[in-house]
Amino acid sequence: MNSGNSSSFVFNLPTLRTWLIWLAVFWLLGLVGLGWLVRSLLILVAFLMLVPVIVLIGFRWWVHRNVLQAPCPVCQAQLIGLKKTSTQCPSCGTTLQVVEGQFQRLSAPGTIDVDAVDVTVQVLED
Ligand SMILES: [Zn+2]
Repeated sequence: MNSGNSSSFVFNLPTLRTWLIWLAVFWLLGLVGLGWLVRSLLILVAFLMLVPVIVLIGFRWWVHRNVLQAPCPVCQAQLIGLKKTSTQCPSCGTTLQVVEGQFQRLSAPGTIDVDAVDVTVQVLED
């Protein structure tokens, strides 16, 4: 138990020494009259730490708004595509576009899509 504490203390001592040296450097710069330099460095470090977080949050928001996951209207395979672009189904090869939150076949103007209805024939015997 005691050896574990001493090894963590030895492991943390260089880190603590580094922080103390930085603190002393900042304190000396403040004494000399370069406190504005210390403050601007701290603001720069905070800015550099915040920018990736803001970019990540913005990218997730953009993906949430512009990526659609829906089934292909032809073969019912699950697809992922960008809104406002056409995509091709990797399963059946049909070119699709996003209309009102669903994938639709990209067809030439004037083409009418019809759904085939299965009609069963009954033979009446007299
Ligand atoms: Zn398909």
